[in-house]
Amino acid sequence: MSLKTKDQIETTTGRTEIPDPEMVKKELIAKYPTKVARKRSKQIMPNTTDECGNPTVMGANVRTVPGIITQRGCCYAGCKGVIMGPTRDIVNLVHGPIGCSFYAWLTRRNQTRPPTDQDDNYMTYCFSTDMQDNDIVFGGEKKLKAAIQEAYDNFKPKAISIFSTCPVGLIGDDVHAVAREMKEKLGINVFGFSCEGYKGVSQSAGHHIANNGIFTHVVGENDTIMDADYKINLLGEYNIGGDAFEIDRILGLCGISLVSTFSGNSSYDQFANCHTADLNAVMCHRSINYVADMLEIRYGIPWIKINFIGAQATAKSLRKIAQYFDEPELIERVEAVIAAELPEIERVKEEVKQRCEGKLAMMFVGGSRAHSYQGIFKEIGMRTISAGYEFAHRDDYEGRRVIDDIKVDADSRNIQELEITRDETRYNPRKTEAEMAELAEKGVAFKEYNGMMADMDPNALVIDDISQYETEKLIEIYKPDLYCAGIKEKYAVQKSGIPMKQLHSYDSGGPYAGFKGAINFYKEIDRMVNSKVWGYIQAPWQGSPELSAKYGWE
Ligand code: SF4
Repeated sequence: MSLKTKDQIETTTGRTEIPDPEMVKKELIAKYPTKVARKRSKQIMPNTTDECGNPTVMGANVRTVPGIITQRGCCYAGCKGVIMGPTRDIVNLVHGPIGCSFYAWLTRRNQTRPPTDQDDNYMTYCFSTDMQDNDIVFGGEKKLKAAIQEAYDNFKPKAISIFSTCPVGLIGDDVHAVAREMKEKLGINVFGFSCEGYKGVSQSAGHHIANNGIFTHVVGENDTIMDADYKINLLGEYNIGGDAFEIDRILGLCGISLVSTFSGNSSYDQFANCHTADLNAVMCHRSINYVADMLEIRYGIPWIKINFIGAQATAKSLRKIAQYFDEPELIERVEAVIAAELPEIERVKEEVKQRCEGKLAMMFVGGSRAHSYQGIFKEIGMRTISAGYEFAHRDDYEGRRVIDDIKVDADSRNIQELEITRDETRYNPRKTEAEMAELAEKGVAFKEYNGMMADMDPNALVIDDISQYETEKLIEIYKPDLYCAGIKEKYAVQKSGIPMKQLHSYDSGGPYAGFKGAINFYKEIDRMVNSKVWGYIQAPWQGSPELSAKYGWE
């Protein structure tokens, strides 16, 4: 089969047409053994809809094909690395051999800013029990207790949490019993996570385990109510490259106060106190929707989906929050902030757009950004022709309406679903049913997320858990102007002459969230896709040789 590449189409028609996604899909799976091709074909879908407008069913959150070179990480990475890692004043102790701890040491750019230099900040440390052969043979509980004691003696932290790595579950160390014993002994909060790397199929299982753990052991520990008018929690924002600082700046200008952020720039007290907020604003749906649901059921706090990536999305999210509180003074203030910030954004955007308009992007990122960045690309005239997630579930692709249809398979059945009930004394519905209905009428969608596919072009290709081979094939077929993913893909993509933007670490840049973040992002993408360096991939003599020669045997 021969597919036209973007270049071929451009030269023949003078405009960019996208190859038929069905043909691309066939090409991507053509070389796989039958069983693998069958499996992958459920996770590679042209973005079509049925007669009722529902997106195609995406195969997602299923086990990775062994040996395929996935981008995925493990349950421990999702629990410790993503959700708990950004918290500055809990000692996050990894129970396992040293690798898991070492490779997660300061490699995620979740920034933190303690209120003063005297406040605890353990994020620069790497705490591990450094298990050895003896601990595997005779058990590691003794060593774990000793490590907790040592951490306590040295740091006197507010809390210590324990993260189980692969061998811990296999040898049967009971980290929860150790946590209970040490909690009693030390008088501080000590709690454990059974987030062994082999649980579930990806980081996603670790998010769920972290959500359950933080909700069980910390949320609700402190009932102090912040003296502020509009109190919200920002859920699923991890302050990569300072994103949460920029969001905090904007919310501050609007007069909206953050009780907690899960979990960028967070502290133990924020988690302990988050049940006193009046609204949950959810950024990354995948990683934190469990806490959002549990806070609503137990304490009566509604949640809405927001997105602070891109100027338009930021303005829309601020307006949604203001609409929820429904106070004219707040609505006015939000409009004033948007009006003050937009002119500079417009100026940069229009300038950048002249050079980026019509360019094609691809994004294969975690469980949220492959969607949340599509709007900011649109702002500078770039189209997303293919996108997908490492570890999202069907609801992140197709929208939460499919949640009841999702079958939990054998690989994820061991991830606990907590039974949450109303708190007898502290449940307090923030709005009456009539108020909620009225807000819904006005367009405030509670507990709703429509997923990535609803926002994508009909001829875009959606790929779940993309393999390295598929990445290379996609690049060969589409020749995109920009590929966005992570560090593992970066250099392979760049070697094929395609600009590559890391949307996990931001390539040491950022913030990209909020208004200032949008300006940073426009400029960065402009520099990247329009850099002269991509024109130097071929040596001049490869295109027009001045000399030619043959080998003797030719
Ligand atoms: S898969 Fe297991 S060994 Fe590897 S990082 Fe995760 S917990 Fe550690």
